[in-house]
Amino acid sequence: YYRRSWSSESSDSVISSESGSSCYRVVLIGEHGVGKSSLANIFAGVHDSIDSDCEVLGEDTYERTLMVDGESATVILLDMWDNKREGEWIREHCMQVGDAYLIVYSITDRASFEKASELRIQLRRVRQKEDIPIILVGNKSDLVRCREVSVAEGRACAVVFDCKFIETSAAVQHNVKELFEGIVRQVRLRRDSKEK
Ligand code: GDP
Ligand code: MG
Repeated sequence: YYRRSWSSESSDSVISSESGSSCYRVVLIGEHGVGKSSLANIFAGVHDSIDSDCEVLGEDTYERTLMVDGESATVILLDMWDNKREGEWIREHCMQVGDAYLIVYSITDRASFEKASELRIQLRRVRQKEDIPIILVGNKSDLVRCREVSVAEGRACAVVFDCKFIETSAAVQHNVKELFEGIVRQVRLRRDSKEK
């Protein structure tokens, strides 16, 4: 039942593998403190609510295979956006390497919501010709009394961004599984439309 999808020594070839494989590199971006690492930790199965095993590839890289709509997909999740130690290049790297992006803000922090728009624009600039799957993520939905960004605003922003929208709570693990399944579906939608 539990199954490691790739051995660690094969992970390099997995990362560089091109079309045909169902292995997607998903990048978490967003203001510091919005909950990116908390979401990544849930993905990594610290508290196991997603039914497969996870492999930690590096300090801030996680890999796990998910069953989504009866088809397995390996997701490599990168949570290195806030890694200041490595310098600015890491953000440029993040902007280049993702097959899909989770742009995270906190519903309790309007500045982080505004930052999300900036990041969307930046991403569009860096990856001009590509139709990149993106989910706008309003995290900390459990903090109802501290809410600064309404659901309607989040949804409207996603329409402008031309991307999906979801509110999550890493703290109470609400919608987190749905988030990761959702990004797999978004990548597949584009892949399937390309095949036609
Ligand atoms: P990052 O800087 O984006 O990686 O954010 P972290 O994952 O480190 O989270 C920043 C702080 O917000 C931590 O204290 C987390 O415990 C807290 N946090 C993250 N997600 C949630 C959430 O969904 N609800 C609540 N109440 N707190 C959260
Ligand atoms: Mg972090």
